[in-house]
This record gives sequence, structure tokens and C-alpha cells, in this order.
Amino acid sequence: MLKLEIQMFAVPFRKVSKTRKRMRRSHNALDLPGMVKCSNCGEMIKPHRVCPNCGSYKGKVVVTKDEEKQEA
Ligand SMILES: [Zn+2]
Repeated sequence: MLKLEIQMFAVPFRKVSKTRKRMRRSHNALDLPGMVKCSNCGEMIKPHRVCPNCGSYKGKVVVTKDEEKQEA
């Protein structure tokens, strides 16, 4: 006996127009991350993170750079 295996897919009823497609994609763009000024050195940094420039967080220096570690 011949057994047909037919897979059914959901097929869009209509072609999505250029305008519809563009309207949907209007929300797809990535936006820039929020940036704040470091209170210690004034460099633009991401909020709630240790400053990569001076290693300070909440006004205290919590991380020292590798160059300084090697000297000490
Ligand atoms: Zn800083």
C-alpha cells in the first residue's frame, strides 16, 4: 500500500507588503546603551559598572590597573 506523508505548513494568507514589513521592522533597530559620566575621572561609562578608565565605583577606587600592580 502506498502511504503518502504530507507535511502541512502554515502558509501566509497574503504577501506582506513593503509598507507592512517596514512598519514591523521599525521597532527592530538597536539603540545605544545609556552612558553616564564617571564621578571620578569624567569619562563616559556605562551606569552601575566599575569605570574601565580609573577603576572607581561609587566614588571609591576599587580596581587598580595592571600597570600599577606590576610596579608594586
Ligand atoms: Zn573613571
